[in-house]
Amino acid sequence: MLVEWLASGAEAVPQEQATGRGQVCAGCSLNEPGDLSNFFTRAASEAIRKALNTRREWKLETALDKKLGVCGACLCPLKLKVHLPIDRILAKILPESLDYIRANAPGCWLLKETPK
Ligand code: SF4
Repeated sequence: MLVEWLASGAEAVPQEQATGRGQVCAGCSLNEPGDLSNFFTRAASEAIRKALNTRREWKLETALDKKLGVCGACLCPLKLKVHLPIDRILAKILPESLDYIRANAPGCWLLKETPK
């Protein structure tokens, strides 16, 4: 899944929440490092690079950014994902990706934030 990006920085979750999410991702075995081109087609990589640039303009950063790659469960660039509201993520994520996270990353913040 490619994360749809925000229309404005105001939609992002609070900085503290994004940092907490980033801390969990940084220690997660599903966090895969590497260049975007390892995971995505050229067109998709370009779209993600553009989203990363607007993220910088909006100053949506965390101290963990250097440790954030791509989530192996949903193919989300984590530098973007940690800023997205949970309802936006849940609207897009595939059920099988959620099942994979439940089985392989039970400490994932996404599961903790998912309404029961
Ligand atoms: S499974 Fe959850 S904690 Fe692990 S990399 Fe993906 S979003 Fe981050």
